[in-house]
Amino acid sequence: MQAIDPLRLYRLPWTLTDNPIAWLEPTMQCNLACDGCYRQNVKEHKPIEEVQAELDCFARLRNFDGVSIAGGDPLMHPEVVEIVRRVAKMGRKPIINTNGLDLRYELLRELKAAGLVGLTFHVDSHQGRPGWRNKTEREMNELRSEYVELVARVGGLACAFNSTVYDDTLDQVPDVVAWGRENIDRVNTVVFITYRAAIADGFDYFVGGQKAEMQKLVYTIDQPRRTDITARDVARVIREAEPDYEPCAYLGGTVDPQSFKWLLAMRIGTRRRTHGWMGARMMEATQVIHHLTTGRYMSYAPPASLEAGRSLMLGGSLFDRGVRQAAARWARSFLSDPRDALATQRLQAVVVIQPIDLMEDGRDNMCDGCPDMTLHEGKLVWSCRLEELRQFGQLASAAPTRVCRQVEASPELRARDASELPSA
Ligand code: SF4
Repeated sequence: MQAIDPLRLYRLPWTLTDNPIAWLEPTMQCNLACDGCYRQNVKEHKPIEEVQAELDCFARLRNFDGVSIAGGDPLMHPEVVEIVRRVAKMGRKPIINTNGLDLRYELLRELKAAGLVGLTFHVDSHQGRPGWRNKTEREMNELRSEYVELVARVGGLACAFNSTVYDDTLDQVPDVVAWGRENIDRVNTVVFITYRAAIADGFDYFVGGQKAEMQKLVYTIDQPRRTDITARDVARVIREAEPDYEPCAYLGGTVDPQSFKWLLAMRIGTRRRTHGWMGARMMEATQVIHHLTTGRYMSYAPPASLEAGRSLMLGGSLFDRGVRQAAARWARSFLSDPRDALATQRLQAVVVIQPIDLMEDGRDNMCDGCPDMTLHEGKLVWSCRLEELRQFGQLASAAPTRVCRQVEASPELRARDASELPSA
C-alpha cells in the first residue's frame, strides 16, 4: 500500500488569525461521560452576555467562517437558540456539536429558524449511552441513522458525524465509512478523532517548573492504554477497505510538520458508487476561491454545493487529476448504470484528526493552524488543552521520566540549564 505523501497533498493555509472555525463553549455541562472527553463536566452555563462578549472577542482576533458551538453539550444551554441567532447575525455559520441526546424535532426547527447551518453529532461506542452500551461501531450506525432521519425531516441542514477512534475500534472505522458512503445524500462529513489521554507512563509533567497535579485533569488516566493511534493508522484501515481512498489536504504538526494532524479526503459519487476522490488542486481552488470571494476560508460547505458533483467533475477535470479520474469513471458508468450516472453526483468529506502527540523528548505536537481554537481570558487557546489553563493557569509541559530521574540523581545535571540536559 503506497504511503500517503504530504508533499502530494494541499497543506491547508489556516492560521491562528485566518481560520475557518471558532470554537465556542457556552456550557461545561454534559449528559454523557464519554471515554477520552477533554472537558470537565460541570453544571455551569455561560450567561448570554458572556457568550456575546466571546463572539465579539473572536471577531477581533480571528477571521472565521463558522462557529462550532460545543461544550459540554450545547443543547443543555437554556439559550442555545439565541446563541445560534447571534452567531448568524454576525454573518457566520452556526454549527452545533452535540451528542444528540437532547435533540428533538421542534427544537431543531427552532434552531434552523434561528439560522443554524448544520450539526456535528458525536456518536461512538465508548460513550456509555443508555441503551447503546457494549455495541460495535457497525451497531452504532443504527443510532447514527436515527439522527440523519431527524435532520432530514427538518431539511436544509449540513449533517456531520464524528467518532473517537480507540485501540479496540480502529478496525471498525471502515464500518462507519461504509455507512457514511451509503448515506452520502444526507451525511456531508464523517470525522474520526484518534483517542488521546495524559498518562504518567514514561513522562513527568510540570507547570512553572513544579510537578503538575495531572490527576486534576479529566483526561489523565492511570492505566496504560494506547494513546498514539495516528491519522496514518486510520487512513491505512480505510484504504484496506476502500483501496481508492485518497486524501487531498492536511494540517501538519507544530513540531512534526510531516504529521497529519488533520487529514481531509473528499469522496465523489452516489449512494451506489464512488467514482473517485478530489485531488489536492481542487481542494486548493475551493479554499482559495472561497477566501477570494468571501474573505474567509470555508468551514462547512452549504449542503447545496455538496450536490454539485457533476459540475465539479466537468470543471475540475481540467486541472485536477483526482477529479479527472472520477469523471472518467462516471462517464463509463453511463454504460453500466445509466440511472445512477444521471442521478445527483455528491461530495462527502472524510476527515481524520490526530490530537496532541507527546514526542519522545516531551515536546507536544499540536495541530498547526488549529481550527478548534477557543477563548481563555481573552486569548485564543487550543480547546483540547483548555483544562490545563483552567486548572493550572498555564499549559503543562512534559519531560521523559528517565531524564528527570537522571537530573534528580545528579547535582551536576541539576545545576545545568534545561536546554543543556541530556535528551530522551
Ligand atoms: S490542537 Fe486544535 S484541532 Fe488539534 S486536537 Fe487540539 S483543539 Fe483539536
